Amino acid sequence: MTFDHDIKASVRTIPDYPKPGIMFRDITTLLADARAFRRAVDELVNPWAGNKIDKVAGMEARGFIIGGAVAHQLSAGFVPIRKKGKLPHTTVRIAYSLEYGIDEMEMHVDAIHPGERVILVDDLIATGGTAEGAVKLLRQIGANVVAACFIIDLPELGGAAKLRAMDVPVRTLMTFE
Ligand code: IMP
Repeated sequence: MTFDHDIKASVRTIPDYPKPGIMFRDITTLLADARAFRRAVDELVNPWAGNKIDKVAGMEARGFIIGGAVAHQLSAGFVPIRKKGKLPHTTVRIAYSLEYGIDEMEMHVDAIHPGERVILVDDLIATGGTAEGAVKLLRQIGANVVAACFIIDLPELGGAAKLRAMDVPVRTLMTFE
């Protein structure tokens, strides 16, 4: 397998989805391309190869797919962060800001032990509202958030800068304007 495959070319752009004026970056085409998927996961985990990572936390829903692969590669556990009301056991919950309005996300209270080293994973960071909420939730239960990884960064929306200002190192593989 070669790793010179252009993974950016495997991302599909859907104009005017989910509403007019939005350029939706669709990673299902990257996931369906075996070489691009492998390369994206390899590139995401690269800086932590050989480092001890206890857990990978992935955000619903595309963060589950990428986060599961990243966790497997790092021999770490996987923890889902879900929209409220989906998890069966006792949870911790936090409100986070969306483009229009707020929502709530939660995780199981015993999913991560205090001091565990955690990497947060999602497909894309835009305004950073979702990831900021996840970092706060993880810190609320005592996790040591060592990094946040995303395949795609939309830098004009400021999300990666917002996370760095929270002392979270951010790794992204490509940007779109
Ligand atoms: P943020 O909270 O503004 O950073 O938005 C990031 C969240 O919205 C992530 O969970 C993404 O999966 C989702 N998202 C926003 N825009 C896109 C897109 O163009 N493609 C795929 N997911 C997106």
